[in-house]
Amino acid sequence: MKFTPAADGEAVAAESNGRRTQRPKGIDEKTFARAVREFTTIVGDRNVSVSPAELVPYAHDVIMVPPIWPSAVVRPGSVAEVQRVVRTANRLRIPLWPTSTGKNIAYGRMMAVEPGNVVLDLGRMNRILEVNEKLAYAVVEPGVTYAQLYKHLRDHNLPLWLDPPATAPGAGPLGNTVERGVGYTPYGEHFLFSCGMEVVLPDGRLLRTGSGALPGSRTWHIFKWGYGPYLDGLFTASNYGIVTRLGIWLMPEPPAYRPILMTCDHEDDIVAIMDFLRPLKVSHLLPSAVVVAHALLALAAEAEYPRDLTGGTRPVPEDWIRNEARRRMLGIWNIAGCLYGSEPVVNELAETVRRRAAADLPQATLLDVDAARQSPYWDHKVRNMTGVPSMIEYSRLSWRGGGNAFVAPVVPLFGEEARKHMEIARPIFWKHGFDYIGEFIAASRDQHHVMMLLHKQPDEMPRAMACYRELTDAFCDAGYLPYRTNVAFMDHTMRRLDPVFQAVCGQIKRALDPNEIIAPGKNGIRGTTPRPVGTARTRATGPARRAGGPRRATVRASRSGAGRRRGRAR
Ligand code: ADP
Repeated sequence: MKFTPAADGEAVAAESNGRRTQRPKGIDEKTFARAVREFTTIVGDRNVSVSPAELVPYAHDVIMVPPIWPSAVVRPGSVAEVQRVVRTANRLRIPLWPTSTGKNIAYGRMMAVEPGNVVLDLGRMNRILEVNEKLAYAVVEPGVTYAQLYKHLRDHNLPLWLDPPATAPGAGPLGNTVERGVGYTPYGEHFLFSCGMEVVLPDGRLLRTGSGALPGSRTWHIFKWGYGPYLDGLFTASNYGIVTRLGIWLMPEPPAYRPILMTCDHEDDIVAIMDFLRPLKVSHLLPSAVVVAHALLALAAEAEYPRDLTGGTRPVPEDWIRNEARRRMLGIWNIAGCLYGSEPVVNELAETVRRRAAADLPQATLLDVDAARQSPYWDHKVRNMTGVPSMIEYSRLSWRGGGNAFVAPVVPLFGEEARKHMEIARPIFWKHGFDYIGEFIAASRDQHHVMMLLHKQPDEMPRAMACYRELTDAFCDAGYLPYRTNVAFMDHTMRRLDPVFQAVCGQIKRALDPNEIIAPGKNGIRGTTPRPVGTARTRATGPARRAGGPRRATVRASRSGAGRRRGRAR
C-alpha cells in the first residue's frame, strides 16, 4: 500500500488528480502513518486504503455540500478486529466514522461530519447470524443488506417478511435502524422492532444490551428490556459506540393482504385525508405506514424535468403536474396503505375502510390494485408494504441534476397540521427556485413530512444549502423537529435543542468517549458541546425562558481545565 504523507499542517494529506484527502485534525504526519501501519497489521493490507481514488465514494453524497474527504478507510472483518482498530484509534486519537451498508443516501451516505476521519467500513461483516422462524426474528451483522436478507428468506422458504425502507435494497437493517429509519409494513418503526445489540465501545470493550447482558442469555433477541436501564437507544442517532450485531423482529407472512390505494385531486384535500387517516392509524385498524405523496414526488421518479417550462429557477407549473399525473393513474395526492390478516378479516377491514372513506373522504378515488400496479409508482408502494425491496425511488436523483437532500420534520397526525406544514414549506422551496416534492407518512400518532430538495449538482449547491437551512429553522421555530438530518446540518439542528438536552448528550459523550474518537459531530454530539453557563442559568432555561423561542447556549466549555469538569447541567 502506498501512503502519501502530508507536506505539513492539518489539512491536506494527499493530493492526486485534483482530489484531496485530509489527515485527522490535530494529528501529525508521524502519528497518522503509525495509525495506518497498525490498522494494516490488524485488518490486512488489502483492507486499508489512503488512496484518493479509493476514498472517492466515502467523500461524496448527493447532498448540497462539497465533498468531505476522509483520511483513510479501514475494513475490519470481525468484531475482534473492530475492537483492536478502536483501541488503536483511541490510543492515537484517530477519529473513526462507522458505516455499515453505506446507503444513507441524501442524509450524507458515508460522509463524515468533519474531514479527516478514518472511515470504518463494516461492509465485510455481512453474516446473517441467525434466523429464528418460530419466534420470527433475525440477527445480523452491519454489512447485511435488505436484498441479502430477502434472498435468504426466499431461498430457505421462510414465511417471514422484512420491512425495507423506500430507497434501497442495498441498504441494511443495522445501519437503517441505528439511524431510526422507517419502512412501510406494520413493522415500519425499525428501532421499535429491533431487539438486542452488541456494541464496541470507544475504549474497545464489548457491550451486550438488554437481555444480552446475562452471559449465556437465552432471550437476547426476543426480550428487549433486560434488567436495569434500557441502553439501546443511546446507540441510535448518536456517536457513543459501534454496533456490530442487531436483532430485528420479522413479520410473519400473513395469509392475506389488501393494499388500499386512493387518489385525491386537490391540494386542499390534504386536510381531509389526514383527518380520515388519524382514527384508522391511532386504533391500528390500518397497521401499515400510510404514505400520502404529492404527485410531483411520483413524477420526479418517472417524468422528465420540464426545464423549458421552468428555466431551472421557477416551480414546475401546476397544469403540467396535473396532466402528467393523469397519464399515470396519479392524483395530486396519492394514498397507499395496506391491511393484513386472514382473508375474511382483510375483507371485513377493507369494507370498513371503504365505508369510512365514503363518509369522510368522498372526494377520494379508490383504485383497483391490479390495474394500479401497472404504474411503477403504485407497484413500488405495494412492494414496500409487503416486504419486498424495490429500487424505483433512486431514479428521482436524476430529475433535476443529481442532487437531493431530505428534510424530514415530524408533525402531529392532524389535517390542519399538514396544511400548516405545506404553508411553511412551499414558499421557502419556491423562493429558492426549487419544487415542493413531499409526502406525509402517517405513523400511529404522527406524520413524517418528508421532503426532497432536488437540485442540480454542483451549480445549485449554495441555493440548496440556503433553502435547507431556512426550512430547518422555519420548522424548528414552529415546534417541529426533524427526525433525521443530513450530516451538513447535524450541528445546526442540535443547537436548536434545549441546552440541558445538549449538555446531557455531551456528558454522555465525555463519559464514554473522552477522546472523541467515534464519529465526532454526528448528530451534533460533541464532548465539547456548548454547555449552559452554570447552574443558575441552566435553571433559567425552563418554560418561561423557552417561551421566547430557542436560545443558543453560550460556549464556555473547553477541552481542558474547567471545561473538562463534569457538567453541571441539571
Ligand atoms: P444504510 O445503508 O442502511 O442507509 P449506513 O450504513 O449508511 O446505513 O448507516 C447509516 C448511518 O448510521 C451512518 O452514516 C453512520 O453514521 C451510522 N452507522 C452505520 N453503521 C453503524 C454502526 N455499526 N454503528 C454505529 N453507527 C453506525
